Amino acid sequence: MWNYGKQALLALRPLTAASLRSASFHPMRISTTTAAPVFRLLGTVSVLALVVLLPTLANDEPPKPSDLTGLHIALDVGHSLSKPGAISARGQVEFVFNQGTARVIAGVLRSAGAKVTILNEDGTITGLAERPQLAARAGADAFISIHHDSVNDKYLKTWDHQGQTLAYCDRFSGYSVFCSELNLRAAQSRNLALEAGKAMLAAGFKPTLHHHEPIAGENRPLIDESTGVYEFTELVVAKSGKLPSILLECGVIVHRDEELIVQTVQYQTRIGHALVAALASARDQKIIGRHRLRLPSWNAPH
Ligand SMILES: [Zn+2]
Repeated sequence: MWNYGKQALLALRPLTAASLRSASFHPMRISTTTAAPVFRLLGTVSVLALVVLLPTLANDEPPKPSDLTGLHIALDVGHSLSKPGAISARGQVEFVFNQGTARVIAGVLRSAGAKVTILNEDGTITGLAERPQLAARAGADAFISIHHDSVNDKYLKTWDHQGQTLAYCDRFSGYSVFCSELNLRAAQSRNLALEAGKAMLAAGFKPTLHHHEPIAGENRPLIDESTGVYEFTELVVAKSGKLPSILLECGVIVHRDEELIVQTVQYQTRIGHALVAALASARDQKIIGRHRLRLPSWNAPH
């Protein structure tokens, strides 16, 4: 607020400088140090103008790097109760991981000022193509599907956990980001995916590259190896929408250590902050969001 106030005072300066014929302008000093009624009037007008203009000038401020005000993000909880996705090393279904992580991410995005719509929070949406359509109908600016990862069956081993024999693989861990070139906003989806990958890496997460392996079921082309961003052309939630759309695999839940780590609020919150950075950067580059017409500043140089 201090910055807004200071900027507003500076903006008013050209209005009064000519009348005052003085190098030192201070709106409060007008009413206390001058007896001339015209100066008193100017002081009153200045203060009134300040009150009227403050909200306008505040709205004209460029958004802060971490401020998502004005953005509406759709978070899709991947899979459903009836088709719950992968099974973790300890036998938990992926949908539960996706639901918990999406809720924490939603809280972080909302704290940063974004409007968030969580799709499929209760796990009752079984269709895939309808999810990005629901997001578009809700008025979202971007669609992010939240998932947790598994590996190719050939890497799975078994272990006994609490009396159950379960499948696991400790060989691969980390996040990955997917987009589809068939999306109507393919370029924006790709750029949003790159921003998400970059932000995840910068936040200390490690990308997994196992989806690039040339085997059946994988063989996904890497768009950026260093940040774990893949093209997945036929990925239904990524290709079906009219919005910039990505899918984020938050971690590998068949990995016995990573399964525990991804369930911590700290891990989920860090992902949320990485997405705030990615979305703010995407907004600043006009990859996502509606862009307001900015009025010229009053104190802009002529
Ligand atoms: Zn999944």
